[in-house]
Amino acid sequence: MDSAEKQEIKRVFELQRSHRGAMRQKTAEQRKAMLARLLEAVKANKEEIIEAVRQDVRKPYREVEIAEYWGTVKSIEHNIANLEQWMAQIEVTSTLRPDASGRLMYEPKGVCLVLGPWNYPFMLTMVPLASAIAAGNCAIVKLSDLTEQTSRAAAKVIREAFDEKEVAIFEGDVDVATELLDQPFDHIFFTGSTRVGKIVMTAAAKHLASVTLELGGKSPTIIDEGYDLLEAAKKIAVGKFVNAGQTCIAPDYIFVKESQQDAFAKALEAVAKAGFFGEDGQLSKEKFAQIVNERNFNRIKHLVDDAIACGAEIVFGGQFDQADRTIHPTVLKNVTPDMAIMQEEIFGPVLPMMTYDSLEEVIEYVNERDKPLALYLFSTREDAISQVLNHTTSGNAAINDVVVHFSDLNLPFGGVNASGIGSYHGIYGFKAFSHEKGVLFA
Ligand code: NAD
Repeated sequence: MDSAEKQEIKRVFELQRSHRGAMRQKTAEQRKAMLARLLEAVKANKEEIIEAVRQDVRKPYREVEIAEYWGTVKSIEHNIANLEQWMAQIEVTSTLRPDASGRLMYEPKGVCLVLGPWNYPFMLTMVPLASAIAAGNCAIVKLSDLTEQTSRAAAKVIREAFDEKEVAIFEGDVDVATELLDQPFDHIFFTGSTRVGKIVMTAAAKHLASVTLELGGKSPTIIDEGYDLLEAAKKIAVGKFVNAGQTCIAPDYIFVKESQQDAFAKALEAVAKAGFFGEDGQLSKEKFAQIVNERNFNRIKHLVDDAIACGAEIVFGGQFDQADRTIHPTVLKNVTPDMAIMQEEIFGPVLPMMTYDSLEEVIEYVNERDKPLALYLFSTREDAISQVLNHTTSGNAAINDVVVHFSDLNLPFGGVNASGIGSYHGIYGFKAFSHEKGVLFA
């Protein structure tokens, strides 16, 4: 990047810095008006946004509409509906003296940076941006270098809704992100891989900026004996195969009882065929997404080839169309922990199954590894549910469903350690972008 581009980043950053004092004075009404401007711009550009995402990452129209458009709209509306209540100062009793009192004030962090990933490029940048605005911050946004068209559409939305001293966007490659990370932001909100999360946290440390890191990892899915296999398969197939498995909270692998492995795989196959294939029996481009690039296609293919070479078996799927960069929904059995496919986040439509004898064994397996972003359990037994929830750590957990917890705006969404730091959505997003100031009235 040349020095003029670097100067431009510095200029906008300084401009926002000088404006952050005015931003923090904005009332709930004024912040809501800013959110309403964002909402209006998103609605006005709906088709352009969807088309841009589909050009960057070929996926079904309906998938893009639900995740990118409605996901963003619902989140902005939720901020508008609840902002007043979130901003209200909270009185607390003082432990110091009976006549003293305490108060919690949520103040904006200041100037925030939002860096987004490619897999849901619009929503995963706009939802944190809405939280940043709700909390009274200035913000600079940068989408992934892999989603050029979406970046352009997001730039149009942002420029329609805001002055650059309030919210600005930079398009471009990783150099732009690196230059942005060099600025002394007050808070950095990053969604992406654990690898880049470490780069972001290192950059933040230089200025002691606070961070929210929304990262990835392997999300285990456990099927307890006695749970209806078809019910579980229906939910798991959607959560795993939507966006061709390129979802941070997709079930990464399955733990199932040996005696149920084949029946469960059969149920999955039936559900996948009904959901993602056309009447001609071919995988449907209208229903199933493409793998984002050649590198990821080859990476996933290598994971499957390696698993087979090490003794795993394909139950169904296993077709790789290199020219079209599509991978059929694939389920593997006889998978063992030492295989490469069990060492890294798969991020593709391949679901390995491992068998287990006792829940203790599953718990031990999960606890020996990085803390997952999400953990899923299908069970009707209260004691099994408590056992798993009480003995494992994960960013989120869902019982008898997968992925949909993301859309529950009353729950914090985030990871823990390797899968992330901090959380957002709803009030948790507001808090992520706020400093909680404790005030004593003596
Ligand atoms: P990524 O880490 O490769 O990229 C994320 C962002 O960082 C992009 O904007 C990219 O341009 C930028 N970037 C890349 N290299 C950089 C560098 N050296 N310095 C600064 N910025 C850099 O991630 P991705 O491939 O876009 O997304 C996939 C990953 O994100 C998966 O691991 C997935 O699980 C995770 N993810 C997490 C969530 C969540 O909410 N927790 C959501 C979606 C994706």
